[in-house]
Amino acid sequence: MARPWNFAAGPSVMPEVVLQQAAAEMLDWHGSGMSVMEMSHRGQEFLQICSEAEADLRELLAISEDYAVLFMQGGATAENAIIPLNLLGRVAQPKADFVLTGVWSAKAQQECLRYGDAHIAASSAAPTVIDGVQQQPFTWVPDPETWRVRKDAAYLHLCSNETIGGVETMAWPSMASLGAPEVPLVVDASSHFLSRPFSVEQTGMIFAGAQKNAGPAGLTIVIVRRDLTGHASPICPSAFDYAKVAAQQSMFNTPPTYAIYMAGLVFKWLKQQGGLGQIEQLNIAKAQALYGFFEQSGFYRLPVQRSVRSRMNVPFFLPEAALDTDFLQGAQARGLMQLRGHKFVGGMRASIYNAMPLQGVLTLVDYLKDFENAHG
Ligand SMILES: *Cc1c(COP(=O)(O)O)cnc(C)c1O
Repeated sequence: MARPWNFAAGPSVMPEVVLQQAAAEMLDWHGSGMSVMEMSHRGQEFLQICSEAEADLRELLAISEDYAVLFMQGGATAENAIIPLNLLGRVAQPKADFVLTGVWSAKAQQECLRYGDAHIAASSAAPTVIDGVQQQPFTWVPDPETWRVRKDAAYLHLCSNETIGGVETMAWPSMASLGAPEVPLVVDASSHFLSRPFSVEQTGMIFAGAQKNAGPAGLTIVIVRRDLTGHASPICPSAFDYAKVAAQQSMFNTPPTYAIYMAGLVFKWLKQQGGLGQIEQLNIAKAQALYGFFEQSGFYRLPVQRSVRSRMNVPFFLPEAALDTDFLQGAQARGLMQLRGHKFVGGMRASIYNAMPLQGVLTLVDYLKDFENAHG
């Protein structure tokens, strides 16, 4: 049975060879006689799996010992609540600043409001005009020159890839250039984590829910500068206190063992691909194939401002919504799945994560052409 091309935003496509390896090891991991999901999280076998996963991730992203790598639970949604509980206590007044570029950063700001003063440093929640093009809300990124970060904020939160809107912010300004050199940058990178090299050193913390681009649901990967930990609020659950989780190498309580194992296999697969520089080249080629097609088409419409179009999540519209159902049915008949856009945006969205082969994108482009020829 051929696998369909899965363009889901998350949980999403996994590398096929990783699934095959997990299947081969399902009943007996490396002669242990056990499945990884049956192992004690404190046993020697699992400790080896976990420490290898951490070492491979450190190698992929060149993470220094100044940062703790934590394998946590609760997804990026819980993480956005845990962050204020961990970091607001670092400063005299509980304050944090947010760049609003889409649904996820807006939700993060709302969550922080429960614990402190969550100030909007910049926002694209209103329409604007850029290079003569009308941009709808959350389809563009405010120029960093306009970000108003408070010097005494505990952190600045940025969602570097807005999965729903398809807006990717890679030009992270230095905090010094924002006039707030002491304020750490906290980045929700869930949906483009490991799609390209990142400058971890530029951040105080970077985190990702695994189910977009790094593994199965249930695991949240947190990379946090050690000096930022140790100031958790008294109401922060112990299992979510970064200092406590770091002190126990992610074993403060039972971590999501099978998800860590699967993410570890994905990290090894990325290393075999040649690392993040190589995977980035492939992701550029995939994004160019898709955006390049859309650019020359007079039929489809791209909502996102050109300079911040995501390489991972590509929203697009048909000329009229009445065609959507036909489009999706025709796609499914060719094995092109999960192309319906998020309800907040409408239209279509193709998520083309690391594990989506170029061939899948080219198959989608062929279908887009045929649909345009039939309906254009
Ligand atoms: C999916 C996503 C979230 C929410 O993730 P959950 O695991 O469902 O909590 C938050 N931020 C971004 C950028 C996402 O893509």
